[in-house]
Amino acid sequence: MSEHANLLKRHRAVMPSWMALNYQDPIEIVGGKGNRVTDAEGKGYLDFFTGILTNMLGYDVPEVREAVERQLATGVVHTSTAYLLRGQIELAEKIARLSGIPDAKVFFTNSGTEANETALLLAAYARRSQQVLAMRQSYHGRSFAATGVTGNRAWTNVSFSPLDVHFLHGADRHLPQFAGMSDERYIDACVQDLRHVLATATGGDVAALIAEPIQGVGGFTMPPDGLFAAYKSVLDESGVLFISDEVQTGWGRTGQSFWGIGGHGVTPDMMTFAKGLGNGFAVGGVVARGDLMDGLHAVGISTFGGNPISMAAANATLDYVLDHDLQANAARRGATIIGGLASARERLPIVRDVRGKGLMFAVELGDPRTGEPSAPLAAAVMEATRERGLLVGKGGLYGNVVRMAPPMTLTDAEAVEGLGILIASLEAVNEEAA
Ligand code: PLP
Repeated sequence: MSEHANLLKRHRAVMPSWMALNYQDPIEIVGGKGNRVTDAEGKGYLDFFTGILTNMLGYDVPEVREAVERQLATGVVHTSTAYLLRGQIELAEKIARLSGIPDAKVFFTNSGTEANETALLLAAYARRSQQVLAMRQSYHGRSFAATGVTGNRAWTNVSFSPLDVHFLHGADRHLPQFAGMSDERYIDACVQDLRHVLATATGGDVAALIAEPIQGVGGFTMPPDGLFAAYKSVLDESGVLFISDEVQTGWGRTGQSFWGIGGHGVTPDMMTFAKGLGNGFAVGGVVARGDLMDGLHAVGISTFGGNPISMAAANATLDYVLDHDLQANAARRGATIIGGLASARERLPIVRDVRGKGLMFAVELGDPRTGEPSAPLAAAVMEATRERGLLVGKGGLYGNVVRMAPPMTLTDAEAVEGLGILIASLEAVNEEAA
């Protein structure tokens, strides 16, 4: 047995069977530099999935590495939040300012799951209610409350929750009942659904709506701009709080705005974040209206949340994003790739949809004869891109969406290279499926 095969065997023996691995023959990544990684066999890949949107600046970024090394050199890896932590305060100040939330305060966690758990707790506490609204096809993490608000049975088959959850349909306009609808009519239909759920399914005292502005795991669904502003005006009538889960959409990735929700023209009451902020170092958190954050009348800490190493990495990453205007870069490079994919779509009957904003884009695959969602075709496209030296991700309610979120530092040459590989891979799979 090869060393690689043995590693996979050991993985299967001790890791949970439900832990997702990409590719038929999963890859062991052993090196990274810039926007490329190398596997244990020495094969190089351009990375269009960046962990899962975690290596937002790519790999081995000197600014981030040096910031972490400076912190390590102090000898202080951890002291706990019972002491003043300069890096934590500085990062909180930046995020509070960038959030646009009035009187914002920040609490740091180690993951997106914990961030959502905290936001839901704050909302439930503020409104003295365990009723929450969430979106179908959503993904919010792996804790008990987070799986409860995850409306995607491929990712959670937990049908019970500490919360009383009601799901809205507004995230996915690909459902047959919305076919051909204008944005305006679609938003109207979603608002009617929200009013209907509030009036008929809930006890009236709902704590919050939690939603991803663009669903990540759900397949980069792109609800029309303005949907969440329309929702918020209804939620405000009865004091329901709005939590925007920015774990995948934050930091300018959409190119359109700094937070995914920015495109909707509305400021949420809370936002949760994680993934890219530490450029690979574990950091997440909640930014919320001060009254909501301070409303939790209990002593609280997160032992490792906001630790000095994560804070050093996150401050350096966020400064890099802002100093280099990576939001603008995301818009430019994303337009090249999304435009290229959209033009190729005409001659690729396996492609049901091409969609995206900035460096968050997807290709949805379907059977060329029936148009039905096809997970095997998405898997085949993943294998074809891998063969050609490009890493991508998968998602969607039916597992039929190839998702891509390259580093926000993507260069023009890398955008063109990745697009070329994507089109060649789609063509190869299309030919086989014809
Ligand atoms: N929220 C969204 C939108 C996510 O995509 C994820 C992870 O994929 C999470 C929350 C959970 O984050 P974590 O895996 O860091 O706990």
